[in-house]
Amino acid sequence: MTSKVETVLRNIRAAAKDSGRHPEDIRLVAVSKTRDADAITPLLDQGQRLFGENKVQEAAGKWPALREKYSDVELHMIGPLQSNKVRQAIRIFDVIETIDRPKLARAIARISREENTSCVGYIQINIGQEQQKAGIDPQEADNFIALCRDELKLDIAGLMCIPPAGREAKTYFLRLREIARRNGLDKLSMGMSSDYETAVRCGATSVRVGTALFGARTYAN
Ligand SMILES: *Cc1c(COP(=O)(O)O)cnc(C)c1O
Repeated sequence: MTSKVETVLRNIRAAAKDSGRHPEDIRLVAVSKTRDADAITPLLDQGQRLFGENKVQEAAGKWPALREKYSDVELHMIGPLQSNKVRQAIRIFDVIETIDRPKLARAIARISREENTSCVGYIQINIGQEQQKAGIDPQEADNFIALCRDELKLDIAGLMCIPPAGREAKTYFLRLREIARRNGLDKLSMGMSSDYETAVRCGATSVRVGTALFGARTYAN
């Protein structure tokens, strides 16, 4: 029987080939928010090593123990990050994908220096310019990227977005790609269970997939 992770990886490969891309240029971020160790372990045993979490506290509760056994796990923060959780976040996460405001960028820069560590960041763009959604307005993106890289000396690898629900995602993915291109950023974190193949065709270098790997979440998160 084909496992869910095999199916998702196969779909990523097919979408990549379909659009003239190399499948190895796209990484699967398994979104393990709300899932306990028993749910996550089968994926680890199938070789998946890259995971995304959206809450610092939750990640701190379950990943240190899992990492004792699977030491090469890579963790991405994909949820809203409060400035007062930055120190803990930097200790747990390898990449923070949700840098979405100057105050947070400044906190990450300062605390990384204090902790004598560097942290890879993505900038979250509010690509649909939605009032309720986190992220930098696309029109502010170039200035904010410059602030993070030039003034704060953050290691910014790429951009991340969550397109508006219920709309054709493609337009938004292509917009994100254009912002990355004109700023010389390589990484594009876009695409979730419902649209990761479209995201791959639009240039995603990582897709964040939860439901298609683990099944429906039992509570909203
Ligand atoms: C939950 C979440 C995902 C995964 O969503 P699914 O629809 O379950 O694949 C991806 N990105 C972010 C930022 C999330 O919060």
